[in-house]
Amino acid sequence: MIIVETIQALSKELKPLRNKIIGFVPTMGYLHEGHLSLIRRARQECDIVVMSIFVNPLQFGPNEDLDRYPRDFKRDSALAEQAGVDILFHPSAEEMYPTPNLTEVSVTQVSERLCGASRPGHFTGVATVVTKLFHMVMPDRAYFGLKDAQQVAVIQQMVHDLNFPITIVPCETVREPDGLAMSSRNVYLTKEERQQALILSKSLLAAKDGLTTGRWSTAEEVRDFVYQQISTQPLARIDYVEVLTYPSLQPIQKLTNQQIIVAVAVRFGQTRLIDNILCCGKE
Ligand code: AMP
Repeated sequence: MIIVETIQALSKELKPLRNKIIGFVPTMGYLHEGHLSLIRRARQECDIVVMSIFVNPLQFGPNEDLDRYPRDFKRDSALAEQAGVDILFHPSAEEMYPTPNLTEVSVTQVSERLCGASRPGHFTGVATVVTKLFHMVMPDRAYFGLKDAQQVAVIQQMVHDLNFPITIVPCETVREPDGLAMSSRNVYLTKEERQQALILSKSLLAAKDGLTTGRWSTAEEVRDFVYQQISTQPLARIDYVEVLTYPSLQPIQKLTNQQIIVAVAVRFGQTRLIDNILCCGKE
């Protein structure tokens, strides 16, 4: 595996490989099985796998966890190599943003609800950095996790609208054996918070069961059920629980056989966790 820290070095490495299928996995590092599953999928489907590790300041709000976001580059590079990365791109913030960034990529509608509403500017930061990375790497395929299902919808919309010649590959959420969705932020959780955070995956799974057995006829009933379940945990502070169409992320009332997302964001202490399930509104 080759590690490069500059855009120039990255282009130099990629230049002789342009006739190959290039797979790209953008990340913020502090790798876990969720990230590694994307690398393995890219490894299976592509000739060359490029991964980036960059904690992007543009996508963090002023009171968010940019400074304390967990980082361990040594461990990450060993894991990336084992999982099959060929080129690891690890730029500094100065390399990515040498001058103030005056150009933004902003995806309307799909960015407006869920994390778009509770983290203003977040998806513009994501779409802007992903655009920059896509131009640097010029991959054929790019791999994103459905743990961040709204991010997948935003990037798919952007790639469609702006004609990026890139196939976006959404990948399933990887979970701990007890159901907690893997996240770099899980390391912030105390033992008690970690235990109570299990309500996220449990309530979502129960919602999916209820949907497949036709227990509810409206989105609001599903939302209320998940909201109540999460509220049983004293340390949980709900940011949102929403049931929307997917990938358009619009509100619905009556459940139909259209695909929906049940998405939650919940704070435990200082830590904000998100999780979701995708399913048919009616089987
Ligand atoms: P991050 O480093 O958190 O920005 O994540 C980088 C990529 O890994 C994104 O496409 C995420 O959606 C994906 N990812 C993060 N956690 C998981 C997970 N538990 N399962 C699958 N993909 C994940």
